[in-house]
Amino acid sequence: MLRIDDLYKSYGDEEVLKGIDLEIDRGDVEVLVGPSGSGKSTLLRCCNRLTEVDSGDIYLGDLEVTAPDTDPDEVRQQIGMVFQDINLFAHLTARKNVTLGLRKVKGLPKAEARQRADAELERVGLADQADSYPAQLSGGQKQRVGIARALAMDPKVMLFDEPTSALDPELSNEVLEVMRGLVAEGMTMVVVTHEMRFARGGATNISFLADGQLVERGPPERLFENPTHDRTAEFFESIR
Ligand code: ATP
Ligand code: MG
Repeated sequence: MLRIDDLYKSYGDEEVLKGIDLEIDRGDVEVLVGPSGSGKSTLLRCCNRLTEVDSGDIYLGDLEVTAPDTDPDEVRQQIGMVFQDINLFAHLTARKNVTLGLRKVKGLPKAEARQRADAELERVGLADQADSYPAQLSGGQKQRVGIARALAMDPKVMLFDEPTSALDPELSNEVLEVMRGLVAEGMTMVVVTHEMRFARGGATNISFLADGQLVERGPPERLFENPTHDRTAEFFESIR
């Protein structure tokens, strides 16, 4: 479904990704963990062309994501992304934040876009907040609007970059609940998170990144209880 092949990325002299290989099947949930600066965000950003790679390939099914002639907008429709910083348009209601892409990118007529947006807001538990502006919403609600906006494009894969790390525990939980719902629906997801309870319950595999390399990968139980590498063990120890 999503295949990352020998990916390299540097910023100046700093090698941030050093030959990442990763294959994620349809319906699988990959949780990415690793120390700060290990390259997790960069890896996600390469997957939807917010960052251009130096070498290596990323494929989504038959679509060569990293090919120069592949349209980044096409990639971003098929691979939705949710960030830690909630980047909604402040002057638009929740519904308008969701309809925008449907109108501009998908070209849906107004009524249809509205219907679709309301359905997505309902999916994230915000049917009653469609007319609210971001300033009237909690951090968790804003993050859920962000998820609805990405889902509205009908993506094949959803990327999450620490979607709850700016939120209080209670608000984190409502976002994690929505994400668990997506897991249950069979959404293919790549999730950077420190929420190990989510990882334990939802991940198909956990990948541990350090210094731009994929050090170790496996199902949560194995990685938590029986890591092969000292660095993995130390990392899980440090976040416990
Ligand atoms: P964190 O857990 O803190 O979010 P991360 O694993 O997501 O870290 P990245 O954000 O991918 O790490 O950053 C990896 C390295 O690349 C860091 O050293 C960072 O400073 C550097 N880096 C990231 N983006 C840029 C950029 N646009 N320009 C220059 N250096 C960058
Ligand atoms: Mg990051």
